[in-house]
Amino acid sequence: MTRVRFAPSPTGRIHIGNARTAFFNFLFAKKNGGSFVLRFDDTDLERSKEEYAQAIEVDLRWMGIDPDLIVRQSQRFALYDAAAQKLKDLGRLYPCYETADELDRRRKRQIARGVPPVYDRAALKLTDDERAAMAAQGRKAHWRFRLEERTMHWNDLVRGESHIEAGSLSDPVLIREDGTYLYTLPSVVDDIDLGITHVIRGEDHVTNTAVQIQLFETLAGTAPIFGHHNLLTTASGEGLSKRSGSLSIGGLRDAGIEPLAIAALATLTGSSDAVHPVTSLQELGEAFDLSHVSRGAARFDENELATLSARTLHGLPFALVSERLAEAGIAGPKAESFWAAVRGNLETFIDVRVWWHVVDQTIDPVIEDTDFCAEALALLPDEPYDAQTWSRWTGAIKEKTGRKGKALFHPLRLALTGKESGPELAQLLPLIGKIKAAARLSGQSS
Ligand code: GLU
Repeated sequence: MTRVRFAPSPTGRIHIGNARTAFFNFLFAKKNGGSFVLRFDDTDLERSKEEYAQAIEVDLRWMGIDPDLIVRQSQRFALYDAAAQKLKDLGRLYPCYETADELDRRRKRQIARGVPPVYDRAALKLTDDERAAMAAQGRKAHWRFRLEERTMHWNDLVRGESHIEAGSLSDPVLIREDGTYLYTLPSVVDDIDLGITHVIRGEDHVTNTAVQIQLFETLAGTAPIFGHHNLLTTASGEGLSKRSGSLSIGGLRDAGIEPLAIAALATLTGSSDAVHPVTSLQELGEAFDLSHVSRGAARFDENELATLSARTLHGLPFALVSERLAEAGIAGPKAESFWAAVRGNLETFIDVRVWWHVVDQTIDPVIEDTDFCAEALALLPDEPYDAQTWSRWTGAIKEKTGRKGKALFHPLRLALTGKESGPELAQLLPLIGKIKAAARLSGQSS
């Protein structure tokens, strides 16, 4: 049974780059009939905040991602302690007493000598007496995982055959001297405990994978399947950061960007499929394939998002927006034809209110030419109105007044809607109805 996880640390709001990882996991799970775990990597108790965790959950749900399970690492320390003990018992986790300063000086010397700045495992050579002496000096140990010096191979879902020489890496610190865990071990322990079958994450984690495969193998015998996707960058090639804010999911929602536009942009950018509007996550999921993600850059233009969002709206059928319309107070027998009339003119969803106001509430008409509007009023047909009423009516006005083009249509639009431009009047007129149309043509608010 396929099981994936999205594992943000709740130290800020998630942005569109994080959404890319979340969608890749979610769509992968859906495609394989599997489940999706939201795991909060909140072992850093100082920087992690409950309000961020909650906001991340809200953002995910708003984008259509409903986790099957939510876990918090801060509630799972007992598991990490047990795993650390197991590694100690196996001799794979060893105490080190170097200070950050000492390590730094050592690194600089290595670089000066032209040697790779890899940890020299000096602590591994300490005798019991030396260790006791360090402890007596009041030094606290941090703990490193002893890597086996072998080539770590994996078949990456995105990058294909991949390998890293574990011998070229420093033994990673798993536990800080204050006893807190770095990301590496808890992530593996949880992936094992939760039965994660596929780890899909950004390519900034590739090096971690070599280390983590050794941890998986030591603790569980086998490792899950990995996929590392390229990271979204801005058009100028800059990475996204939780602190940059403007491309946060919350910020985009406030700007009226459609969640499906975020989904399409986040998943299709930097892949062999062109970015295009979609009507559902299911549609996106059917065409989704991690092997379509390219290894090159995944640059996107922020300005594309607004256009894609508008195009997304233009293609949404009524059934998929009726609830949102009802929340905006747009319901009843007119709602469906209203949506058909206005969707092509929307930049953001909230613009529906403006047009609902025009067809359903009171507006102040703009009368450019009183005599012309009076003539048009005299020719206004009786109801019922349909999609042909407009052309019949304007045909009659044209015949009567000899006007055509803008001179014919513009004053009518101003009178009927109070606006310079907007959706097709052929579709709006039946929604406005005869009573309002007549009042507006005679200059009355209606
Ligand atoms: N908390 C890590 C991150 O946000 C998770 C990495 C992973 O997926 O293993 O980068």
